[in-house]
Amino acid sequence: MPAMDWRRMKTIEIDLDGSIEELFCPACGMEALEAGIRGWNPCEHLVFLTDDASGEVSYNAPGFQEKAEKFMKILSEEGELERAAKGIQMPATAFLMAVTTHGMACGPVSSTSYICFDMAGVPEEGD
Ligand SMILES: [Zn+2]
Repeated sequence: MPAMDWRRMKTIEIDLDGSIEELFCPACGMEALEAGIRGWNPCEHLVFLTDDASGEVSYNAPGFQEKAEKFMKILSEEGELERAAKGIQMPATAFLMAVTTHGMACGPVSSTSYICFDMAGVPEEGD
C-alpha cells in the first residue's frame, strides 16, 4: 500500500467544550471513542488514540502499538504534529485528527487527543 504524502496532509483541528467521547468515526459513524475506551471493541477504522495530557497510548489496534508509541515520542521530543505523523508510515487512507478539549479545574485547562483513523479499515499487519 502506498505511504501517504504527509507534506500535503491537512491538519484537522477541533475545539470541543466537553468530552472527546462524543466524537464519531468519520467512516462508519460509530461513536469511535465510546467504543474504543469503554468497551474496548472499537470500529474497524480506529488505529490508535493518544493524548498529550497522559503521553500514553490509550488504544491501539492490534499490531499498531509500536507506531502509536513512536508517534508520541516524536511529538513530545519535537513538538511538531506533521513531523510526528510523517515519522510513522501509514497507508494513504489513514489520517490523523487533533482534538483539543477545554474545561475548568483549578483554572482553565485543555488537552489534545490524537486520533488516527484508517478509512479503509485497519490493515491486517502493523507495517
Ligand atoms: Zn469506523
